[in-house]
Amino acid sequence: MAYDYDLFVIGGGSAGVRCARISAQHGARVAVAEERFWGGTCVNVGCVPKKIMVNAAEYGMWAEDARAFGWDLTVHGHDWARLAAARDAEVARLSAIYGKLLGGVGVTMFDARATFIDAHTLDVGGKRVTAERIVIAVGGQAVRPEIPGAELGMLSDDVFTLKALPKRLVVVGAGYIALEFACVFRALGAEVDVVYRADLPLRGFDADIRTDLAEALTSQGIRLHPGVKPARLDRMGDGLLLNLLGGQALEADAVLFALGRKPYVGGLHLDRAGVECTAKGAIEVDDDHATTAKHIYAIGDVTDRVNLTPMATAVGHALADTLFGNRPRQASYLNVPSAVFTSPPIGTVGMTEADAAAQGPVDVYVARFTPMRHTISKRPGRKTTMKLVVCQATQKVLGAHMLGEDSAEIMQAVGIAVMMGATKQDFDRTIGIHPTAAEEFVTMRTRTREAGVKAAAE
Ligand code: NDP
Repeated sequence: MAYDYDLFVIGGGSAGVRCARISAQHGARVAVAEERFWGGTCVNVGCVPKKIMVNAAEYGMWAEDARAFGWDLTVHGHDWARLAAARDAEVARLSAIYGKLLGGVGVTMFDARATFIDAHTLDVGGKRVTAERIVIAVGGQAVRPEIPGAELGMLSDDVFTLKALPKRLVVVGAGYIALEFACVFRALGAEVDVVYRADLPLRGFDADIRTDLAEALTSQGIRLHPGVKPARLDRMGDGLLLNLLGGQALEADAVLFALGRKPYVGGLHLDRAGVECTAKGAIEVDDDHATTAKHIYAIGDVTDRVNLTPMATAVGHALADTLFGNRPRQASYLNVPSAVFTSPPIGTVGMTEADAAAQGPVDVYVARFTPMRHTISKRPGRKTTMKLVVCQATQKVLGAHMLGEDSAEIMQAVGIAVMMGATKQDFDRTIGIHPTAAEEFVTMRTRTREAGVKAAAE
């Protein structure tokens, strides 16, 4: 049977656009459907506009800190509308580039929603389109809690349409999104409360980093409320009242729910194509990202594996090379570096101490210090924590973790070393760049402790 396209990609976000573009470059006839905005969550309501807001927050701090270095600066306040305009212009520019990238290699673009009619046929904005292979790259969407009044709260998308800085913000959740926005809003001048059910923020991250982050958040005036859950959200005058289980209540001008994201599969009619989901609602895929229908693939956040843009693009690229480039390969989910753009930020790659110790004995190196800039600025809550987790048997560095300024930039390079299997001795024989914070990663000579099976047995 002749199909309209060799490949149809549902979703024009990071994963879908990369897969479509590379497939077209390999000579395939490709179409993509995007119902909302080209570039997806990352470009439009995620990483990119968020990072611009993080930058805005940093400028305010630097302007204040500059006084200690002799500058006679006075900060008169922050113009939210000016920031929003600059941010939105950059997002529009990048979103347009995504469109141009696809058009430039002959990909057919549909500004429409695509849903399955059968395993090779899609309804694309009312038009029937057939394809030999189909890639589902529809991403995820933020979860709203099931409490009375939840609709009065914001989800992360709504942050980017706020007309003004809320004076009092309550954030519910303590993952990436919750904490990044808590820090941004605090630095721009809001009072911020963070409500979360665990005892420490950022479940899944290394325990030292979580503990030190909690201290850093507190010392910049963010009020942490561990071990609590929201019960209901009510209007109160011009503001809101978030009632917590246990009786406490917090007043706010805005409440942000950052309780995770779920795969956006609703209404796709996956059943018509024989595509099945896991118990958690993600599309089930094998190691090659094939779904339960072998000519249909799923990539990116809809598979709920490592929900990060660079992972999604890597997987999309590998799939395109496999299907149309005569170069079968898989992107590796191991040792994926990542960052949390809190203040200060976190950079991490590889295993936490707890995960590594569960597999065997490890040597742990931890350094805590005040970076040079802040010995002068005296800004509270700017301590840096750096940590290496090393396999005792092989001396391979299994994990590197950092809380501190520039940690995202630093960890990208450390990630290469960890990916290559560098040992602690490789780190040790690398000469540091002085004076930097990064040099600490190659000068941690004294083991802080050992952990893991052998240590526990002794
Ligand atoms: P996360 O999964 O990181 O965090 C979710 C938070 O919500 C956790 O604190 C979790 O608590 C809490 N939570 C979940 N369900 C409930 C519940 N029923 N009741 C109370 N609390 C609950 O999700 P985010 O929304 O912050 O981010 C989504 C994804 O987006 C991330 O996983 C990440 O992959 C990606 N992202 C990456 C960024 C980056 O790379 N810098 C930035 C932003 C997003 P608990 O810990 O107790 O489970």
